[in-house]
Amino acid sequence: KDGLTKTRETIRDNISRLTQGRTEIDEEFLEELENILIAADVGVETTLSIVDRITERAKEETYRSEDELNNMLLQVMQEMLLDASEDHPVDFDASLPAKPYVILIVGVNGVGKTTSIAKLAHNYHKSGKKVMIAAADTFRAAAVEQLQIWADRAGVPMVSQGQGADPASVVFDAVSSAVAREADVVLVDTAGRLHNKAYLMEELAKIMRVAKKKVPEAPHEVLLVLDGTTGQNAVSQAREFTKCVNVTGLIITKLDGTAKGGIVLSISRDLHLPVKYIGVGEKIDDLQIFDRSKFVGALMG
Ligand code: GDP
Repeated sequence: KDGLTKTRETIRDNISRLTQGRTEIDEEFLEELENILIAADVGVETTLSIVDRITERAKEETYRSEDELNNMLLQVMQEMLLDASEDHPVDFDASLPAKPYVILIVGVNGVGKTTSIAKLAHNYHKSGKKVMIAAADTFRAAAVEQLQIWADRAGVPMVSQGQGADPASVVFDAVSSAVAREADVVLVDTAGRLHNKAYLMEELAKIMRVAKKKVPEAPHEVLLVLDGTTGQNAVSQAREFTKCVNVTGLIITKLDGTAKGGIVLSISRDLHLPVKYIGVGEKIDDLQIFDRSKFVGALMG
């Protein structure tokens, strides 16, 4: 079970309905194929390039059976979706390029930021790394409490201060403590107040400035968490965040709850940002390292 069942079944079912009893491709067929891919949020650009390629091939080839036609479609889609690949999946077991390795997690409330931090903490911890969480979303008291519950579940320590504390001060504490305790990874939760962009930008800049006092190269990564069920809304959120902070990668959550898993492919292409992880459930184990070829394989069944 990979958590992508809904998207896979939708794409596969629609395509087999389309090819049923057919061995030829006409205008109507191409239009319907376009609709199927757009509906799965594969993205307009990618969809059009897939349709173009299929049009070309159909001019040169003949298909003796529905199966042959189906196979050609799946093959072209796999090729075209892989084409945009810029992702470099890195295993949790791999050694990290710095110690402590500081990862800033950004994203608006409700997208799955807390859960994603817990999942990352759990995975790093499981692979034998010493992890620390910094609760720098000090704006919401509930956020710190929630994060503490997850940190306990993952079995990793968390550094926090009272509600309303200066987020930069929490981060300074956490990074200092990580250096002293020789921790491998620091995961920093941040407030997602995108509605007040100037404030958010200032807060993130200050966090980074302070982290650098202890670890000059920090943060090593800035991961933006996006809710995969929100389609184009996630894309516009991402655009806003990239104006505030230098995002290095994406975590796309809740893919188990949507038939529009193609969003993963269109988002990375539209934003020129690698997808690093995907969330496929609410449990601590429901995080996958994003591997494009595996993902496309899973979508195409
Ligand atoms: P935050 O406000 O961004 O920190 O969001 P939370 O981590 O608290 O998550 C918000 C809701 O989304 C919670 O009910 C989570 O259980 C749920 N959630 C987070 N990630 C996933 C996921 O990958 N799949 C599903 N189905 N639910 C998720």
